[in-house]
Amino acid sequence: MKENSRRKFVKSLGLGIGSTALLPTLTSFETLSRKKYQGKKLNIALCGLGRYANILARGLQETEYCTLAGIITGTPSKAVDWKKRYSIPDKNIYNYGNFDTIKDNGDIDLVYVVLPNGMHKEFTIRAANAGKHVIVEKPMAFTEKDCQEMINACKEADVQLAVGYRLHYEPHHIEIKRLGQKKVFGQVRLIEVSLGYDISGIDPNDWHLKKSLSGGGPLMNLGVYCVQASRYVLGEEPVAVTAQFGPVTRPDLYTEVEESITWQLYFESGAIATSTSTNNTGVDRFFASAERGFFELSPAVSYGPFRGRSSSGEFDFPIINQQATQMDGIAKEILENHELPVHISGIEGQKDMKVLEAIYKAAETRDKVILT
Ligand code: NAD
Repeated sequence: MKENSRRKFVKSLGLGIGSTALLPTLTSFETLSRKKYQGKKLNIALCGLGRYANILARGLQETEYCTLAGIITGTPSKAVDWKKRYSIPDKNIYNYGNFDTIKDNGDIDLVYVVLPNGMHKEFTIRAANAGKHVIVEKPMAFTEKDCQEMINACKEADVQLAVGYRLHYEPHHIEIKRLGQKKVFGQVRLIEVSLGYDISGIDPNDWHLKKSLSGGGPLMNLGVYCVQASRYVLGEEPVAVTAQFGPVTRPDLYTEVEESITWQLYFESGAIATSTSTNNTGVDRFFASAERGFFELSPAVSYGPFRGRSSSGEFDFPIINQQATQMDGIAKEILENHELPVHISGIEGQKDMKVLEAIYKAAETRDKVILT
C-alpha cells in the first residue's frame, strides 16, 4: 500500500499520531508489523452459531483486542464442535434456555447476537439485562420502536450497544464517506447503490423466507447496507421515500417476503439515492455522481475484495479482514471506557430501520412517504 494512502486511512480512523487513546492504535495491516497487545481483552460470546457466526469466529482469531470466550447455541452438537475447535470451557457454553445465567459469568464481557433477525430484540434485551455489552447483527430489529426498546434496555443496564456494521471500519467505505461528506467533488447529486444475490437454490424452509424470523426479504437482509451507505455518504437523513416491489419469479418461495425491491430516497440537499436489493440476480455496486466528479466501488458491499475509483483515479486501500477490524474497533472503545461512536451504535441501527419501514410502506401504498 502506498504510504500516503496508508497515512490517510489511519488518520481517517482517528487513531493516528496524536491520538489520546490508551491502547495501541490498530489496523489489521499495522498489527502484522508490531508487538502483540498484552493487556485485558474483550471476552466475546457468540449467540447463534450459523453461517455468519463462523465468519465472525474466524475473524476473532485475527483480532488483537478480543477473545472468543463463549457460545450460546440451541444445537448440542455445535456446542461440542465449537468447544473443541476454539477451546471454549464448558462454563462458557450456554443454550437459549439457560442463557440468562450468563449474568453470573465474569468471563464474558459482550454477547454478539448473530441469530435470525426476529430474535435480535429478545436476545439483545436479555444480554443487556445480564449486564453484558451487546453487538447485534443487522438489521437491528423489525421496527424503529423495537430498536428504541433495545436502546433503552442497554441504557438502563448501563451497557453499550453496537450494530454489526462492518463497513464503518472498511477503508474504501471510510473514503467514500469522506468524499461525500467533505464534498471533495462538490455536492453529491445522485447515488446508485444496489446489492443482490441469486439465491434460487435456497432451502424453502430457510428463515430468510419466513416473515416472522426475517422481518422481510432482501430489503432487510441486503438493502439495509444500501440505505446506510446513501445516508453516510451524503451525511443527511432522507426526507421522502418512494419504492416498488419487483416481479416475483419464484412464487413457490416468495409467499411471505419480497423477492426484489427498488426504492428512491430524496434528501434535503436535492440528492437522490436509488437502490435495488434482490434475491434473483447478482449486483454489488456503489456509484456517486457529484458536481465536479464521481466515485464508485464494485464490489462495494459484500465481503469484497473491494475495488474503487474516483474521477481523480483508482483507489489504493488495503484489503482487510472486515470482521476482525470491526470487532477490534468496538472492543477498543469498550476497553477504554469510551461511549461507542453514534455511527456504529443502536441509534444508527434505529435510523436505518426508520427508512426501511418507510420503504416498505411506500412499496405497499405506492405513495411517496414523507419522513419527519
Ligand atoms: P444462519 O441461518 O446461518 O444462522 C442462524 C443461526 O441461528 C443458526 O445457528 C440457527 O441454528 C440459529 N437459530 C436459532 N433459532 C432459530 C430459528 N428459530 N430458526 C432458524 N435459525 C435459528 O444465518 P446467518 O446468515 O448466520 O445470519 C444470522 C444473522 O447475521 C442475521 O441477522 C443476518 O442478517 C446477519 N448477517 C450479517 C452479515 C454481515 O455481513 N454483517 C452477514 C450474514 C448474516
